[in-house]
Amino acid sequence: MSRVIGIDLGTTNSCVAILENGQPAVIPNSGGYKTTPSMFAITQDGKRLVGHLAKRQAVTNSKATVHGAKRLIGRRFDSPEVEHSRELCPYDIVEGPNEDARIEIGGKNFTCPEISAFILREMRRVAEEYLGEPVQEAVITVPAYFNDAQRQCTKDAGKIAGLEVLRIINEPTAAAMAYGFNRTGEEKIAIYDLGGGTFDISILEMSDGVIEVLATAGNTFLGGEDFDRRIVSHLVDAFREAEGIDLTQDAMALQRLKDAAEKAKCDLSQRETVEINLPFIASDDEGPRHLSMEVPRETLERLVDDIVRGTLKTVDQCLQDANVGVGDIDQVILVGGQSRMPLVQQAVADHFGKRPHKGVNPDEVVAIGAAIQGEALVSEDDNMLLLDVTPLSLGIATFGGHFAKLIERNTTVPVCKSHIFTTTRDNQSAVKIRVLQGEGDIAQDNDLLGEFVLGGIRPARKGEPEIDVSFDIDANGIVSVAARDTATGKEQSITVNATGTLSDDEIQNIIEEQELYEVALKE
Ligand code: AMP
Repeated sequence: MSRVIGIDLGTTNSCVAILENGQPAVIPNSGGYKTTPSMFAITQDGKRLVGHLAKRQAVTNSKATVHGAKRLIGRRFDSPEVEHSRELCPYDIVEGPNEDARIEIGGKNFTCPEISAFILREMRRVAEEYLGEPVQEAVITVPAYFNDAQRQCTKDAGKIAGLEVLRIINEPTAAAMAYGFNRTGEEKIAIYDLGGGTFDISILEMSDGVIEVLATAGNTFLGGEDFDRRIVSHLVDAFREAEGIDLTQDAMALQRLKDAAEKAKCDLSQRETVEINLPFIASDDEGPRHLSMEVPRETLERLVDDIVRGTLKTVDQCLQDANVGVGDIDQVILVGGQSRMPLVQQAVADHFGKRPHKGVNPDEVVAIGAAIQGEALVSEDDNMLLLDVTPLSLGIATFGGHFAKLIERNTTVPVCKSHIFTTTRDNQSAVKIRVLQGEGDIAQDNDLLGEFVLGGIRPARKGEPEIDVSFDIDANGIVSVAARDTATGKEQSITVNATGTLSDDEIQNIIEEQELYEVALKE
């Protein structure tokens, strides 16, 4: 029987785990590391690199090295999030035919699922090398706050990587599964997940193998990279003041600054002060210039204080949605690399009035939970039951630009709900169903997931026809919608084809193209 792997596809790093003899284990890559950078690059001579190999050459090849593709997956090109990413990414982000954000490097245009597939394929290879056998099935995790488009695109990425994606599960839920593995009793837990590019908070109830998510909230555009950016700005400002040179104009200098900022940030989790030295960072008529600066922990804490406080506001919203008080929480579990920062740990401890649980490794716990869920799915183990929720409300646009919610956020999935709508004009023969996801009362304040037309409605006065619109969210959090004219029984339905999702033909073309590339490399 082929083994099922759990993959934590992170913004910054990815991790793969399996269940071996009933015990979860993280699989190290060939370099002995338990996490692999979620990076992809094309070298000057056209070679494709993934993981540590891509990271190692990022400084000298920043324009053709992709990091943080998870920030762009399933996003519209014209969204504010993509605009924000442009500031973080030295590579080119271009508009795809589906109004999606694509990545152009090495003279080639890649969809975001394709880039994520390179990382997934690498994780699959790491697992296959370790197990000595092919791997086909996987459970992949996504931030709880990912919308439909982001989930579908992640599933597409799995397919491109040659994986059968048994389930997409939420990262905090996976963390809870790892925590709750072989644990009995009843507990309410909060999972605070601050990774490289996303922040999630989830409140869960665990009771003898049943894990029920009570509420989840988050921000898919806030994470460790924002901390790095604050340090980079601080260094750039200080250098400009001291030397009169703007380092942001030089891509290579900027990449060196980013690397140094991230390293300094991580070192400051252990030390009170660090020194950043970047010799020959710039030059002008008077010769080369060097950057040398001391950064105390307090400076970093001052630079990012508002970001950390901001996460606590989201924590409060989530507690409120879960109808749970801070004092009801039995355990707080920290997930994601950025949660190693002492300021984050202290802020969370103060907020909940208790020290976070220390028994899980924040870098590995999500992949472990995914592996546990994968094994439970293939072995049909019903001792462990997972009841997850949809993070965002779902509905349709109605007359006057309003948003009619059919499924409220934090509803347990899978779920199916329907509602009867009607026409607004006499003899109206068709209705357009615009499917939206979000929390705004006005239609245009929400994400448009897709739209379709139900035609052939029998002639009648306005308000008479009954159009039954039903929404279905499956266990992966993926949405499908159907509309039926109750008089004629005529029905239209779609699995919402959201931004950047690929058709089966497109996926097949990408797979074939990648295979051709691999064959060409071997020749
Ligand atoms: P993840 O997405 O969970 O892999 O988290 C990656 C983020 O965690 C990156 O922004 C890292 O810079 C950050 N990170 C990793 N280790 C530490 C550390 N010891 N202290 C602070 N941040 C860290």
